[in-house]
Amino acid sequence: MSLRVAVAGATGRMGQSIAKAVAQSEDLILSHLVTHRGSNTEGRSVAELLGMAIEGVELVTDPANLVEADVLIDFTLPEVTLANAAACAAARTPMVIGTTGFTADQLKNLEATTKHIPLCRAANFSTGVTLAYRLIALAAEVMGGDADIEIAETHHRRKIDAPSGTALAMGEVIAGVRGVPLDTIADYDRASHREPRRAGSLGFSVSRLGDVVGDHTVSFGSDSERLEITHKASSRDAFAMGALKAARWLVTKPSGCYDMNDVLGLKRSDHE
Ligand code: NAD
Repeated sequence: MSLRVAVAGATGRMGQSIAKAVAQSEDLILSHLVTHRGSNTEGRSVAELLGMAIEGVELVTDPANLVEADVLIDFTLPEVTLANAAACAAARTPMVIGTTGFTADQLKNLEATTKHIPLCRAANFSTGVTLAYRLIALAAEVMGGDADIEIAETHHRRKIDAPSGTALAMGEVIAGVRGVPLDTIADYDRASHREPRRAGSLGFSVSRLGDVVGDHTVSFGSDSERLEITHKASSRDAFAMGALKAARWLVTKPSGCYDMNDVLGLKRSDHE
């Protein structure tokens, strides 16, 4: 039977890409578009919102109305995602989360819901970035002792959180290889201290530029050579297709916390 997929943040950049990808897929049914009171959706039809005619899609503002969906895909704002996660936990609806910018406390709250539902969260649902995490870990293991490591990211001018969730996830990979918490090595603001590069620090730089979907480069630099691992997303479809893949995979899983490595079978333990 086809999966019934609800999409939160349906008027947003990612929500639109995901809802259209669900509607165009052969094995998924777009069941609900979740918007919020005060958004510009009042009095507008689903066809108007998505620019395509689709039968049987419900427009809802209250996530408690999602009991009939098999899975919710949520790319919104941290506080919105938390409210949706509470509603999904009550309705036992699995959830795919692409929202970034959570605080540590918000992440703890989110984790509590995974006692009741399977939840797949990733700062980046693209296959290329998920694979890049593995390459970054390998480079950090082999070169990390001698090399300075820097992470640079560029996104479109409307992005709110910085550095991006993906840049932070790349930082977590490097911190994990070194066996230290990211915050003890991250340097988010070089302009605030006048001194040479701190040994072992991990620098982040952020650009906000035009309509860039998402570029990330991790550079490893020693005295005699430099390695750069770069990923560039040219379309939001890269994230949308990954989120759909995660939704199909997640609905067969028990309650718990998963990420894109699980979906793609890229957990280190899968290969060792
Ligand atoms: P956007 O601003 O275009 O969309 C945000 C959506 O949230 C909108 O539909 C808006 O109506 C909705 N929203 C805002 N307030 C709300 C409320 N109170 N209740 C319900 N809905 C509300 O942003 P975007 O570019 O689509 O990105 C959304 C999130 O996804 C961001 O956190 C971004 O960083 C993240 N993102 C993740 C990935 C990934 O692969 N994981 C990729 C791209 C973007």
